Amino acid sequence: MTRPRLATVWLSGCSGCHMSLLNLHGDLLGVLEQCDLVYSPLADIKEYPHGVDIVLVEGAVANEDNREMAGIIRERSACVVSLGDCAVNGNVSALRNPSGLAATLGRVYGEAAPEHGVAHLLPRAVPLHQVIGVDAFLPGCPPAPERIRRLLTCLLRGQPAELPPEMISFG
Ligand code: SF4
Repeated sequence: MTRPRLATVWLSGCSGCHMSLLNLHGDLLGVLEQCDLVYSPLADIKEYPHGVDIVLVEGAVANEDNREMAGIIRERSACVVSLGDCAVNGNVSALRNPSGLAATLGRVYGEAAPEHGVAHLLPRAVPLHQVIGVDAFLPGCPPAPERIRRLLTCLLRGQPAELPPEMISFG
């Protein structure tokens, strides 16, 4: 039986969602024993591969590079998971939206143009599902490690991405 192919992607986020994944510590090894990690900022793999079964996507879509990557992810992946609030609703990455793009660039660069090679910002930073179809959402800033593990365990077993009530209640 072939093992599921897992990917993780970091769009416009702070890396905190990937840090939460790493905070599974030894339990992360248990997750990785059940799949093949085929693309991730945690691994030096240059090109997003075809035939990905599950991908965790951190971060909003805030620039042209993010938008292009989101399209590639959707085309090559069976199950796309929005990981964390930036991917789910824009969160911190979208705080610039009310100010407008010109004011944001002015605040960062002043009169100077952005350096050559800096990704071209979109007018608004938007959640992933506004750009591509998303199959599952895991909110949180960041989602707690155990919630990531539980979600991944469901998906790797081919089960629906459902968490127990105590993991989706924040009252
Ligand atoms: Fe960082 Fe929070 Fe956004 Fe995750 S959801 S990338 S932890 S700001």
